[in-house]
Amino acid sequence: MLTAFSRAEVYTPRSPHKNQYYRCVEAHFEELEGTWEDRYQKEYGYWRPYVLDIIYKYLDCGDLYLGFARVKCDDCNHEYLLPFSCKRRHFCPSCHQKRVVEFGEFLCGEVLKQVPHRQWVFSIPKRLRLYFMYDRSLLAKLSRCAWKVLSVYLKQGVSLDDPKPGAVIAVQTFGDFLNSNPHLHIIATDGCFDQDDGLWLGPYRTLQSLEGLFRLEVFNMLKKEGKITDLIIENMMGWHHSGFNVYCGESIWPSDQERIEKLAQYIVRAPIAQERLLYIPASESNDGVARVIYKGKNSGVRETFVALDWLACLVTHIPNRGEQHVRYYGYYSNKSRGMRKKTEIDNQVPSLVNSDISKKAFRRNWVRLIQKVYHADPLLCPKCNGCMRIISFIKDEETIKKILLHLDLWMPGNHDPPNLYQEHQYIPAPKPSGPSYDITHDDSIFQMPYEDEYSQLTPYEDCI
Ligand SMILES: [Zn+2]
Ligand SMILES: [Zn+2]
Repeated sequence: MLTAFSRAEVYTPRSPHKNQYYRCVEAHFEELEGTWEDRYQKEYGYWRPYVLDIIYKYLDCGDLYLGFARVKCDDCNHEYLLPFSCKRRHFCPSCHQKRVVEFGEFLCGEVLKQVPHRQWVFSIPKRLRLYFMYDRSLLAKLSRCAWKVLSVYLKQGVSLDDPKPGAVIAVQTFGDFLNSNPHLHIIATDGCFDQDDGLWLGPYRTLQSLEGLFRLEVFNMLKKEGKITDLIIENMMGWHHSGFNVYCGESIWPSDQERIEKLAQYIVRAPIAQERLLYIPASESNDGVARVIYKGKNSGVRETFVALDWLACLVTHIPNRGEQHVRYYGYYSNKSRGMRKKTEIDNQVPSLVNSDISKKAFRRNWVRLIQKVYHADPLLCPKCNGCMRIISFIKDEETIKKILLHLDLWMPGNHDPPNLYQEHQYIPAPKPSGPSYDITHDDSIFQMPYEDEYSQLTPYEDCI
């Protein structure tokens, strides 16, 4: 059987294990754990062992030694090996980006209806941000506070008996340079549904009242949680600028599907974009201290950080195991969606995008995702343009070793086999320019999810 591999090649457009982000993480994660207590605990709280788990998984992501799929062309017998991915969101830019695309499709195909929507952003003053870093369970409560005031606001704009607005709220904890900035990105219906599922657009007034109400809700919540006292509230109520902010975007009509899908992707984006990062290892730095230069997304400004400090800041944004980042409310809540599905009236108002792919196929359709993220087709034979297919998944350690040995790709003790990445068989087409949102396209390897990756993830909303 192994003779079939004589022409096998590794499917990889670039060198994932050599990119700047990877090198930075690899060079400093051990020191980070070792010095956390002394250097960072005071500022960022206790070290979370889960962080190390995520880092190890990321460093192994796309490593052929840990398993791969064999992809073969029936016409010309060309074959390549496709390594498995770590599937870890937030920290692994490549895996996160696939989730981002998937989430956009899920939201437009399964949740949002064919009605106008608006983007909202709710943010809080610096003075209160630390509480959310030390206690991540508060983020869910922050989301609830925003929904409470936004739903009242949307309901007040229409004269209906039982108005039903709907919203999707995503928590983001990071600012432009990974500074702690917990805020909420919301996609909400631009009005309320009535009993017959018709949407009513309302005359909406000033946002000032919304900001004030949000402030009160957050104060009450933090007081109830024992984080702040009446004295602090009183003091902050006296601030000239409250530090609370509510941003409301313009109405996006259902005909502008692309815009809303981009927005959906944007609200769950990763904390960093690899293409804006430059890593200077200690050996190349003037003073022997490794540095990271990062270009801010919004400001476009470049800032320089000690690499270890930068990494410390980055890991504070890794959510805890199983922590949700996206929540659904009102007409879009899991409960409402479930009830409408049960009574088979959910199609009364069609989804924003008609999704004819079954849920299971949708989740397993990695080829489609890769096409969407990289604008390239991993099953198009680079030799003859024929159709390639996966002929097997290799997970067994012995078989992995046998195959890699046979291909002369086995290097004991070296999990970063550099020669794998020199010959590129597959060059993705250039990306189309000018998306309205700056979505991260990472430059890492195309990876293959485990074949049952998505079937294990339920409910879906827990995944992002
Ligand atoms: Zn071929
Ligand atoms: Zn990964």
